[in-house]
Amino acid sequence: MKDFNYFNTLLVQSIGSKVGPVAPTIVPSAAFGYEDAQQAEGIFAGEVNSPLYARVGNPTNAKLESVVAAMEGGLGAIATSSGMGAISMVTTAFLKAGDEVLCIGGFFGGTYTLITETMKRFGVTNSFCEVDDFAHIEAKLKAGVKMVLMESVGNPSLRLPDIKKIADLCNVHKTLLIVDNTATPLIVQPLELGADIVVHSSTKNMSGHSAALGGIAVFRAVKEENEKLLHEKYSDVHKIIKKMGKKAFIPICKKRALRDMGMTANAFGSFLTLLGLETLSLRVERINKSVAEVAKILEEKLPDSVSVNHPSLTSSEDHERYKLDFEQGCGPLLTLDCGSKEKAFTLLNKLNLVTQTANIGDNRTLALHMTSTIYSDFNEETRQFLGVDEGLIRVSIGLEDPQTIADDFLQASAEL
Ligand SMILES: *Cc1c(COP(=O)(O)O)cnc(C)c1O
Repeated sequence: MKDFNYFNTLLVQSIGSKVGPVAPTIVPSAAFGYEDAQQAEGIFAGEVNSPLYARVGNPTNAKLESVVAAMEGGLGAIATSSGMGAISMVTTAFLKAGDEVLCIGGFFGGTYTLITETMKRFGVTNSFCEVDDFAHIEAKLKAGVKMVLMESVGNPSLRLPDIKKIADLCNVHKTLLIVDNTATPLIVQPLELGADIVVHSSTKNMSGHSAALGGIAVFRAVKEENEKLLHEKYSDVHKIIKKMGKKAFIPICKKRALRDMGMTANAFGSFLTLLGLETLSLRVERINKSVAEVAKILEEKLPDSVSVNHPSLTSSEDHERYKLDFEQGCGPLLTLDCGSKEKAFTLLNKLNLVTQTANIGDNRTLALHMTSTIYSDFNEETRQFLGVDEGLIRVSIGLEDPQTIADDFLQASAEL
């Protein structure tokens, strides 16, 4: 079984080198010289594995890509400039005007606006449904949606999807499933559960230090039999699959998105992400234990006017699924609903230990009021769907002592 011990060994052993420079090397060059005209031709044809030009990859990114592909159980990966870069890359690589995306569950604000505003401007339509509305999901799949997008844990709704069940449906109806696993690296393995592509904002848990903006998409192998991409609705990538075989997801994304839009990771950012990855397993294990501890203390001791949401609590609507599928945790987030914006501001401004910022998955504990910041542009109906109420504070638990974190929230809410 892939537990935290497995990942500690995998990550630490695969990042450093035993010969030569031990730490990953940063290769900042934008261009790479070719040995001769024949090699140049081979590199451009994808037949020679050597750097082409930094917009489509560099050796430091390649190191990060191989480590994260192994971590997610994928065949390969593409590092991007940010998490949104990874999501933009995979959506634009596969979608065109007239296609429809089905979005399941709550979404990170940037993904929500990418789909509902930007992609829509380019003619890609969308529909949304709740995580457990399987009848709706199946009807949409039967009607021929081109792609299904979901998060392993809704941010900030904290709804937990049944990834396996949704993946099975997508496989039956030959529809691409993309899972954003930003909140639960090492805890959830979407490719093993049947997803086709996993995306991460490596800015969050993977890096952990608030020092490197980055993203990554990880791909499964193209199958020899019963490959969903060979369905006629994906006919515009059949030529690439025929030529590139099981690795085809990578040239599909590189040739149809990265090359033309340039959402590429930079070597220094990838180096910092690799440093973060060395300790990812230790941090994820500790933080996921701490979140449940803090949630329990806060639910017991906060005034009744503040409600705590975390799937580890029996009061959560996804508690059963948490016990079944998320036994090692569901990421660094918990939320507090203070009932009103004023009360939320009062609580936040009395906190001593917390950093108020828009990030999550950091080594420090972070908090942010939702409707006045990330969701300020969204109308009431959308906020309801995304599970964002007026008094909602999102908290991302860090590496500090969990009792000390809880005590800070208790003192700050004493008068609410
Ligand atoms: C932050 C985040 C993103 C976007 O990542 P950036 O690196 O900020 O572009 C996407 N999905 C989730 C779940 C996130 O938390």
